[in-house]
Formats: sequence, C-alpha cells, structure tokens
Amino acid sequence: MFNAICINKDDSGYRAELQSLDESALPEGDVTVKVEWSTLNYKDGLAITGKSPVVRRFPMVPGIDFAGTVTQSSNPAWKTGDAVILNGWGVGESYWGGLAQVARVKGDWLVPLPKGLTARQSMEIGTAGYTAMLCVLALEKHGVQPADGEILVTGANGGVGSVAIALLSKLGFTVVASTGRTNEADYLKTLGATSVIERAELSTPGKPIGKERWAGVVDSVGSHTLANACATTKYRSAVTACGLAGGMDFPGSVAPFILRGVTLYGIDSVMAPMDLRLQAWKRLATDLDVSKLSAITREIGLLQSIAVAKELLDGTVRGRVVVNVNH
Ligand code: NDP
Repeated sequence: MFNAICINKDDSGYRAELQSLDESALPEGDVTVKVEWSTLNYKDGLAITGKSPVVRRFPMVPGIDFAGTVTQSSNPAWKTGDAVILNGWGVGESYWGGLAQVARVKGDWLVPLPKGLTARQSMEIGTAGYTAMLCVLALEKHGVQPADGEILVTGANGGVGSVAIALLSKLGFTVVASTGRTNEADYLKTLGATSVIERAELSTPGKPIGKERWAGVVDSVGSHTLANACATTKYRSAVTACGLAGGMDFPGSVAPFILRGVTLYGIDSVMAPMDLRLQAWKRLATDLDVSKLSAITREIGLLQSIAVAKELLDGTVRGRVVVNVNH
C-alpha cells in the first residue's frame, strides 16, 4: 500500500483527497519509482482545485514532477537504485503523477538526477525552475548578453520568476523584477534582482509600442503584461513567454515584431525534447546558486498539498513548494 493524493470526479463532484492505494492499482509502465520529493507547481494547483480542466482522466494522481529512486525496471536504460527525476510528458494530467509515494511511468520520460543536485534540490527547482532555465537558454541562443542591458522577469515572486532571477543574476545579467508584492522587494533583491517594479506598470492596457527598455524578458504572466513587455523590448531583442498567471490572452500588436524585429519565443516544458531537458538540468546543476534554493522553498507534507494548491492559485505563495511525500 502507498499514500497518494487522488482526484476524482463523479456524481459527488470534483475532489482531491489523500488515499491509501494498493500497488496493483498503479498504471502500466516499465519503471516503478519510490518517490521521495514532489512539488507544487501552478498546474498542480489547477489540477487539485479543478479550477481549469487540466486533468484528462479520473481517478488521477496529480503532481507534474517528482524525484526518487527506481525500485523496478524492465527498461534497459534504468536499473534498481538509479536516482531519477521526471517532469512533464502529461504526468499529473493524463498519467498518474508525483504526489504519491510510488509512481509507475514510462522509462523514456525519466532524466537521471543531475550530478551536483540532491533529490530534494532537484524538486526545489522543479518544473518551474526548469522552465525558467528553458527561458534563459532561449535568450542565450538568441544572443542576449549581460552587456545588452536589463532583463525583465515578471511574476517575480512565483516559482518560475524566483528561479529566473537567481539564474540570470548568477550569469551576470541586470534583472528587473515585476511583482504585485513589492513588500517582497528584499526577498527579490536577495535572489539577485537589481530593481523591483510594480506589477501594475505592465498589467494594464498599454500602447502598441513604447520606449525601448528590455534586452530580454522572462514572462510567466501573459495578457497585457506580455503585450507591454513586447512593446518595450529593445530593437532585435527577445521575449520568452512561458505562463499565463495573469491571463491567457495576448492583447498586443504586431508593431514590436515588424518595427523592432523583436522575437517572441514560446516556451513549453511539457513535451520538450530529451536533449533540451538534459541540457537544462545540467545547466541548473551548475549555473544556479543552490544556496539560494532554501530561501525560496517551503516544505509541506502530502496532505497539505491540497490546501496549499489553493494558496498557489491565490498568488500568495512565494517561491517554490516542495512536497515530502513520506510525511
Ligand atoms: P506561481 O503561482 O508560483 O507564480 C505565479 C506568479 O505570477 C505569482 O507569484 C505572482 O507573482 C504572479 N501573478 C499571479 N497572479 C497574477 C495576476 N493575476 N496578474 C499578474 N501576475 C500574477 O506559478 P509558477 O511560477 O509555477 O508558474 C507561472 C506560470 O508559468 C503559470 O501560468 C504556469 O502555468 C506557467 N508554467 C508554464 C510552463 C510551460 O511549460 N510553459 C511550465 C511551468 C509553469 P507576483 O506576486 O510577484 O506578482
């Protein structure tokens, strides 16, 4: 038997609860993992509360990422005792995920725990941090360099935002953090932000094109924030769009793209190819100041994840939440 958060939807409604399950209930898969750490990401918040229909089948064990140890494998790439992590591939949405003490998955989805990171640290980073790294990699590939000027990070107190600030500052960039919680300015500066701006500067309807300011953008908010970020990005610079915490719409104009040659990169972590995943995790293990991780992380137990999911969607959680599934 093992403990798991289970989401059900039936005549009694949509609900997430802690359940004790028999291992025979585990889905098909060629690798079984004893989960040690999982996390709460924005999407887990949507799944657990049912606020958006991210769960594709029921019953569902949520949790879009986890770290643990292989206990059984018929996949030649993995053997008992291997330390692994998993994020994305529809796990926690279409396939049972990491908010459980045991997971059975496709071995092809697993990534080895990067050298230099503990299982817990890998989940302090989690999908949010790995997505921040994908944004940074896209900016680097575009050719953005520290000397080019300020990088805007929106949704700064969130998981993606916090890790993006820490990564970019370690790489030598000047980071401007946009937040609705300016009372957290000290926290954001400790992470590496050079300055902090009020969320409202970007989140209300703006002009199609404005004064050039940003050498690059990591946006996890979407909507007017993304449109305004594009409108104020410097000539031939780049914006990475990975989230929708402020809305799924994109009420912008083509002006920044056709008049300034701005490039908008879409960032998807879920189906990202394996070589990009491995590159992102390797860079996270070397380019992130792990001593900053404990400052951005709160630890909770499996049952608490139900209540904290709501806090996450309310925008009151700071940084990252790791889940000790054995607690
Ligand atoms: P968090 O909930 O940790 O952070 C989101 C942050 O956005 C909040 O902390 C808050 O920051 C800000 N925010 C919240 N509500 C609003 C609002 N109404 N308007 C403007 N800003 C708001 O989430 P994550 O960092 O984990 O994820 C952020 C986004 O990125 C989500 O939409 C998520 O779905 C997406 N995502 C996408 C991935 C992909 O593959 N593309 C992978 C991972 C995440 P503050 O208080 O500082 O303003």
